[in-house]
Amino acid sequence: MSRIDCDVAVIGSGAGGGTVVAALAELARAGKRVILFEKGTKLDRSRFNGREVDMAELLFEAGGSFPVVDHSVTLAFSEGVGGSTQVYTGTSLLPPKRVIERWNLPGVDHADLCERAEAFRVQNNAHLLPGPDINDNNRLFQKGCEALGWHAEQFPVNVKGCKGSSLCNLGCPNDAKMGTQQVQIPAARAAGVELVTRAKVRTVRAGDAGGILDVEVSAAPHPHGKIAQSEWEPGRYEVHAHTVVVAGGAVHSPALLLRSGFGLDLPVLGRYWTCQPAHILVGEHDKPLTNAIGHPKSFLYDQRVAEDRYFVEACMYFPFVTAKNLTGFGPEHHRLLKAYERLQMILVLACDDALPDQRVTIDAAGEPVVHYKLMPPTITALCKATRAAAQIFFAAGALAVHAPSARPTLLTRADKDHIDARISERHFLPGSVSVSAAHLMGGCRMGTTTATSVTTPHGQVHGQPWLYVADASLFPTAIEVNPYLTVMALADHVAQAVLARESH
Ligand SMILES: Cc1cc2nc3c(=O)[nH]c(=O)nc-3n(C[C@H](O)[C@H](O)[C@H](O)COP(=O)(O)OP(=O)(O)OC[C@H]3O[C@@H](n4cnc5c(N)ncnc54)[C@H](O)[C@@H]3O)c2cc1C
Ligand code: SF4
Repeated sequence: MSRIDCDVAVIGSGAGGGTVVAALAELARAGKRVILFEKGTKLDRSRFNGREVDMAELLFEAGGSFPVVDHSVTLAFSEGVGGSTQVYTGTSLLPPKRVIERWNLPGVDHADLCERAEAFRVQNNAHLLPGPDINDNNRLFQKGCEALGWHAEQFPVNVKGCKGSSLCNLGCPNDAKMGTQQVQIPAARAAGVELVTRAKVRTVRAGDAGGILDVEVSAAPHPHGKIAQSEWEPGRYEVHAHTVVVAGGAVHSPALLLRSGFGLDLPVLGRYWTCQPAHILVGEHDKPLTNAIGHPKSFLYDQRVAEDRYFVEACMYFPFVTAKNLTGFGPEHHRLLKAYERLQMILVLACDDALPDQRVTIDAAGEPVVHYKLMPPTITALCKATRAAAQIFFAAGALAVHAPSARPTLLTRADKDHIDARISERHFLPGSVSVSAAHLMGGCRMGTTTATSVTTPHGQVHGQPWLYVADASLFPTAIEVNPYLTVMALADHVAQAVLARESH
C-alpha cells in the first residue's frame, strides 16, 4: 500500500465537499496539500445525451432508484465530480428560519447561514427567470394557484447560458447549470487543491497526527465504457492527513463512519436519517404544453408547510419516470402516457420527522442499507399535498388529474368539488404508490452530546478533533425546503472550523 501525506483530505465532491475545498483553497495557495477524493468519475457534457435510461445509469447510484429496506421509497443521488449537484434542478432556496431555530444549536445561526447561502446564490448565478423563459407547465402552476387565491412563489434557479433543454436531472448538456463541478471545484483546483477521482475511501481511522484513510483507486473498467481514468494509478493507498472532512452525502457518510468503527462510541451514528418523500402528479389538458422546452422548475406553493408539512412544486419528468409514477396499468395507463405532451406536472413533497429508528446501517460488505418507513403523519402530509395539487391542476384548466392516492386514480372535472373525499390515506398503500426522495438528510446529525448527535455544531465528530463532517448528513431534522443551499452554507461553516484548526 503506497503512503501519501497531506494536510487536509476531503471525501466526496458534492454540494458539501465541493464547498469545503473552495473554502480551503487559501490553504492550498499557502502551500498546504489539500486532496479531494471522489469515488465517481469526472464527466463532461459530451457524455450527456439526454436519454433517460442511459443517463440514469451513468449519473445516479442504483440508476436513481436506490431502494430502502421495505421498498416503499426509492432514493435518488448521484456519484461523480459534483455529486448530486450534477443532476440537481438548481432550485436555490434559503434555509427557513423556523427550522434553524428549532435545531437550537449553539453557533448555528439563521442569519449567518443565510448570509453564506446568499453568497453561494451569487456565486452560482441564481436568479429569477424572466417571463419569456417560463414554460407552460410553470405558467399553469402559477395560474392555478392564482385562481385559488394562493401565493405561488417564483424562486431563483442557478443557471448561466441556459438553453432551456429541460434536461437538468439528466446532466446539463450545455454546462449551464451551476453545480460544484462547474463553479467551486474548478476554483479550488486552480488554487492547487488536488482532485483524485475513482477513489473510494473505504475507512478512516485516527493516526498519531490526524487521520489515516484507506483509499482504493479503481482499476475496473468503467461500466459505461471509455471514461477518464483516475489521476492516480489504480491500487490501495494509505493517506495520512492532519484533518479529514467527510462529505459523502447522507447515505454514504454514515456508512463510511460505521464501517470505520465509530458506531461503538457514537450510538446515534446512522440514526435520525430523513428525507422529503415525493411523488409526481399529472393533470391532463386539452392541448399540447411546452413542458419539455424551457427550464423545468420556477414555482412552488409552500404556504402550508409549517402546519401541514408539505410543499408542492412545478416540475417536468421524463416519460419513463412518468410511466413509473402513474398507478395502474393497461389501457388507462397507456392512454395517459399517449397524452404525455398534454400533461401538466406537479411534484408533491412531504416533510417527515427525524426518528431514531429511521437509519442507515451497513451490510456485510460495509455498503449502506437504508431503513426508512413512510410513517402515518408523512402519508397524511402527502395526501394533503395531493389534494392541493389536484386543486391547482383543475384551477389551471386540467380536464383530468391522475393521483395515486385517489379512487378512482383518474379524477375528472366532475370530481373537482369532491377532492377531499376522493383523495385519502386509505388509498395510499406504501409500496403501491411510486414514492422517491432526492432530498436526503441526517445520519451524522449535529448536536451537543454523544447521546443525541454525531458531531458538534461545527461538524467535528465528537471525541475526534481531526475528523469533520460537512454535508447533508449533518441536518438534525428535515430542512423543509430544497436543501442544497443549506448544505453549502453548513459546509462553509464547517470549513471555517477546519481553517481555524489548520492555522494553529
Ligand atoms: C435529481 C435531484 C434533483 C435535485 N434538485 C435539487 C434542487 O433543485 N435544489 C436543491 O436545493 N437540491 C436539490 N437536490 C438535492 C441536492 O442535490 C443535495 O441535497 C445535495 O447535493 C447534497 O449534498 P451532499 O454533499 O450531502 O451529497 P452529494 O451532493 O450527493 O455528494 C456526495 C459525493 O460523495 C461521493 N462519495 C460518497 N462516498 C464516498 C467515498 N467513500 N469515497 C469517495 N467519494 C464518496 C459521492 O460519489 C458523491 O459524489 C436534488 C437532488 C437530486 C438527486
Ligand atoms: S434547462 Fe438549462 S440548465 Fe437545464 S439542462 Fe437545459 S440548458 Fe441545462
